[in-house]
Amino acid sequence: MAEKHFKYIILGGGVAAGYAAREFDKQGVKPGELAIISKEAVAPYERPALSKGYLFPEGTARLPGFHVCVGSGGERLAPEWYKEKGIELILSTEIVKADLSSKSLSSAAGELFKYDILIIATGSTVIRLTDFGVQGADAKNIFYLREIDDADKLVEAIKAKKNGKAVIVGGGYIGLELSAALKINNLDVTMVYPEPWCMPRLFTADIAKFYEGYYANKGIKIVKGTVAVGFSTNDNGEVKEVHLKDGRVLEADIVVVGVGGRPLTALFKGQLAEEKGGIKTDGFFKTSVPDVYAVGDTATFPLKLYGELRRVEHVDHARKSAEQAVKAIKANEEGKSVEEYDYLPYFYSRAFDLSWQFYGDNVGDAVTFGDSDPASAQHKFGSYWIKDGKVVGAFLESGTPEENKAIAKVARVQPPAESLDQLSKEGLAFASKI
Ligand code: FAD
Repeated sequence: MAEKHFKYIILGGGVAAGYAAREFDKQGVKPGELAIISKEAVAPYERPALSKGYLFPEGTARLPGFHVCVGSGGERLAPEWYKEKGIELILSTEIVKADLSSKSLSSAAGELFKYDILIIATGSTVIRLTDFGVQGADAKNIFYLREIDDADKLVEAIKAKKNGKAVIVGGGYIGLELSAALKINNLDVTMVYPEPWCMPRLFTADIAKFYEGYYANKGIKIVKGTVAVGFSTNDNGEVKEVHLKDGRVLEADIVVVGVGGRPLTALFKGQLAEEKGGIKTDGFFKTSVPDVYAVGDTATFPLKLYGELRRVEHVDHARKSAEQAVKAIKANEEGKSVEEYDYLPYFYSRAFDLSWQFYGDNVGDAVTFGDSDPASAQHKFGSYWIKDGKVVGAFLESGTPEENKAIAKVARVQPPAESLDQLSKEGLAFASKI
């Protein structure tokens, strides 16, 4: 059996892996010391592009354009970058067994990789309707979106089913972004989700009302309060209809399912402490096993600002947790220490000409400000969340970079608020004076 040894191995070749590689280079890494092992065939890239620019008919995003670290305004790490730095990119290689006691990883093809220090960056996988035994869910042209291969299959289907009908199952941000992308491709789009409004884990009813109204104005149909319970197919085995629990039937040439994900931690079951569905880490992303770190979607880490353990499935945290882990590893080697991770939750989404950002925690009472009329040309509005008399979260649609910075500061500083009324009246002016 082929065996290779590296001082550092990053398992997974996604967002966190790319940002970790850049940080290793900044901190100093010798040629041959670091390897990234990924089951994907390409170097780390900015995953959020897959549900946005990658699917657009014009101005289409393609590799190498969106390799990391362009998403945060950094230098693009194309495959040549890794070569120049002597960082080994071991692609199209799935690890099927991890033995943390012997510090070894085995691939599906039978290679053995040994490490001194391991960074787990395996991210998440999508939840599939076949996981729940939904009848007909394995039909052709039912898609999921996690990796570039999935996106390529969807792009082919969009071309093959020109002007056809698409059903998007799921009302989260992936569902909203995909619906917009398919509409821009001239498909007739219907969204289906069980909740009373879209993005219910973040959006209030008021926020959702804007997006649902805006989507309706774009010609996207929204079916709420029900779920897909089965699919029927044509003679080629391609999806033809989506059967809903409430008895309705929707025609479909393409179905895209975005009903959530779960972290890929199965390789380490029983070998590491877990918490809240992820791998438990400290504020340096160290796991319960020495020399093993976990970052990005897989890590359940102490969110210092709120004094609790959390798992965060967003790109900003993937980048920052990776950098923090590498800084901690390098400092440790020199007998030094780094500050504990002090993360301010941040996520964003973009669709059509819309773009929102959210910072902080969406707990307590919420209040909306600004112009949230879906028909208005301006559509600049936002929300604050107030808990125990303090503003703890802020959301803004169509903010300028300065305005987004201002709401981020509010969420970090947590200023006191007199009343919901005051916040609603002051709107962005409240954030600007913090
Ligand atoms: P990933 O980027 O998922 O990387 C994991 C890597 O590990 C993959 O390369 C995978 O193939 C590899 N891997 C897994 N298991 C193995 C194995 N056994 N062997 C070898 N390799 C393995 N977040 C936002 O904040 N805003 C957005 O707009 C946004 N848009 C998104 C759009 C899409 C379509 C998706 C899927 C996600 C989006 N996200 C967004 C979430 C964000 O992309 C993730 O939180 C982020 O990619 C997590 O980084 P990661 O490195 O932990 O995992």
